[in-house]
Formats: sequence, structure tokens, C-alpha cells
Amino acid sequence: MTRAAAEAVIKALLSEKDYLNGLDEKLGDGDHGSNMASGALAAKEALDEAGDEADLKKILQAAGDAVIMNVGGTAGPLYGAAFLAAAEVVNKNSALDAATLEKIFGAAVEEIQKRGNAQLGDKTMLDVLIPIREAFNAENCAGKSFEEILTAARDAARDGLEFTKTIAAKKGRAASLGEKSIGFEDPGAASALIIFRALCGYWKDSLRN
Ligand code: ADP
Ligand code: MG
Repeated sequence: MTRAAAEAVIKALLSEKDYLNGLDEKLGDGDHGSNMASGALAAKEALDEAGDEADLKKILQAAGDAVIMNVGGTAGPLYGAAFLAAAEVVNKNSALDAATLEKIFGAAVEEIQKRGNAQLGDKTMLDVLIPIREAFNAENCAGKSFEEILTAARDAARDGLEFTKTIAAKKGRAASLGEKSIGFEDPGAASALIIFRALCGYWKDSLRN
């Protein structure tokens, strides 16, 4: 089940390669889709090696290692380190619920900030990942079903990507464009949304089955 969720993410990233490269052509060097696709292929190989019985922790570790070792650019190593940090906060007994997801996205955000020193509003992947983490916060989840929480998190992620269009980049390659970066979506924020939408699609299907 966890493995199928990872496969949904891999498939989504491979199919959005050209779209992500296109966004990065506007703000950077046009390789974000290719970087994410090579990360997805490396993660797929690592998952095949980890075998069918791999649990969430093993899957996050295998994907993190594979991405760190195989993906160049800025975002790949940040994503890889985020997967490894997320692996640290789950174990065999972790349930798929809002509290676990808050821990996972909390660890990922913290690691990305530790390495890249970016804040909310700097026009990076964090403008999508921080709102996702907030949506899983206990206060924001009160009175909601898990499906409603996922929908709220996905909407917050989508709003986060929209927000990146309205602001100037302060980190990464796009920062050198200054105000000229306004009007374009951040590629790393777009890949974070693609990853999260693939997970939500998979989780919602499994809730219904
Ligand atoms: P590169 O910029 O080296 O070509 P990519 O194109 O793969 O790498 O990734 C670019 C993305 O990396 C940006 O769109 C942004 O979301 C993300 N990014 C850049 N710098 C940072 C940072 N300091 N913290 C978080 N994310 C960052
Ligand atoms: Mg790039």
C-alpha cells in the first residue's frame, strides 16, 4: 500500500517532466523537470531493490538516499534530505493520519530550512510545503474527517503555488531576477504540489476501497 503511494508520486513526476522544465525555463536553467524525473527513476530502482515488504520508513530512506546520490541541482538534494528526515519520525506502527503527516511534513520543512535557509514567501518549494504542514496541525484538523483534511491540505498547497506567482524570488537561481521573477510559478513549489496531489489521490482512493 505504501509502495503504491510512492509509485503514484514517481509516475506523476515522470509525466510532468516537460511542464516542470518549462516553469524552470522562465526562472532558472530549465532542468527542474529533468532533475525530478531522474530522482523519480532512481527512487523507483531503489524501491524495487527494497522489495515488496518495505514499510514507510524504509521507502522514505531508500528514496532519500537514491535522490541524494543521483540528482543534481538545488531541489533534488533538498528533497532527498527531506525524505531522510521524514523517515526519522515514522516507524512500523505509524498510522496514516493527520498527526503522522504533520510530523512528516514538519521534519521535511525543518530539514529544507536548515539546509537552504529559506522562509515562507521566498518563492521556493517551502511556499507549498509549509501550508501543507499547517493544514495537518491539530487545531486546523478539529472536527474534520481525514478526507476533508486532505482536501484542505491540497487546497492550501495549490494556493501556495499560486502565491509564488505574486512574489519575487529570494532564494535559488530565480533570486538573481529580482522583481522580474514576479508573475511566474516557482518550479520547486510546482513539483511539491505534484507530489502531494499524487499522494492525496492515492490516499483518497484507498479510503474508499
Ligand atoms: P537548480 O536551481 O540548481 O537548477 P532545480 O531547478 O532542480 O535546481 O530546482 C529549483 C528549485 O529549487 C526552485 O524552484 C526552488 O523551489 C528550490 N530552491 C532553490 N533554493 C532553495 C532554498 N534555499 N530552499 C528551498 N528551496 C529552494
Ligand atoms: Mg534548475
